[in-house]
Amino acid sequence: MKVGIKVKFWGVRGSIPTPGVKYVKYGGNTPCVEVLLPNNQLFIFDAGTGIRELGNTLCKGRKKHKIHIFLSHFHWDHIQGLPFFMPSYIKGNNIVVLGMDLEGARLDKIISNQMESIYFPIKLHTLAANFQFQILAEGSNDIEGTRVDAIYINHPGQAMGYVVNFEKVKICYLSDNELVPLWAAKYSETAYRSNTREKILKLISGADLLIHDAQYTDEEYKTKVGWGHSPFGEVMRLAKDGRVKKLALFHHDPDHFDEHIDVLVADCDCKENPSRFSHVMECFAAHEGMELHF
Ligand SMILES: [Zn+2]
Ligand SMILES: [Zn+2]
Repeated sequence: MKVGIKVKFWGVRGSIPTPGVKYVKYGGNTPCVEVLLPNNQLFIFDAGTGIRELGNTLCKGRKKHKIHIFLSHFHWDHIQGLPFFMPSYIKGNNIVVLGMDLEGARLDKIISNQMESIYFPIKLHTLAANFQFQILAEGSNDIEGTRVDAIYINHPGQAMGYVVNFEKVKICYLSDNELVPLWAAKYSETAYRSNTREKILKLISGADLLIHDAQYTDEEYKTKVGWGHSPFGEVMRLAKDGRVKKLALFHHDPDHFDEHIDVLVADCDCKENPSRFSHVMECFAAHEGMELHF
């Protein structure tokens, strides 16, 4: 029995947008995931360039929207689409931006700074929609009746992961998280807190969907320790240990063309041989336009 939750991927690419014929299947827009709950609550995770198309779609009707945008962190690929989010320009829309404060920089300031005239012609405070900012710290949050857990993940400069709990469905969004294999822990430049994995594991346990950074192959990762992104093998291990039902590989490397990603997914242990695990996990690479229903 489905609860009626829609999850749609509007941007799945990491680091920088990748237009062009080599990226048609998985898409070139940077992170943006829509979670639409059956009560019509609209949650958006990250405001990469994918949010532009989502915004345009929302503006097709006359309906006014209340939109919650959860930001994982403020690296360009996660906020660059926000100034191009059409609902911001329409009076009557209510937009709540949620995310962490950084040391010495408040959430609202970080967002308005990216629209300073040096970078962008229109200032945040002149936008027609009503904007609110909600600072989140690690822990459980009640977002208008829906429980959203926030957790600090392992990324240079800090990032936050989110878990939406609606009725019995659990959807996890962990972009830009470096799961450090044991061999690499001693080389990691980032202050990797060894209990991060345990905390994440607890939170994602039994999830219906885990959307997780899987930017590198295990081989590529060897030269990218401390860059803040995960090797495939570790993501798979985490998902397996957490007994998640569906694993969406996310934040694809800009150098991974469509055929590269196809090969990587075909090599996924869980797809090849589900019986190796104590439970059946569906594993796939997220692509732009992909919709899942729970
Ligand atoms: Zn990123
Ligand atoms: Zn990042």
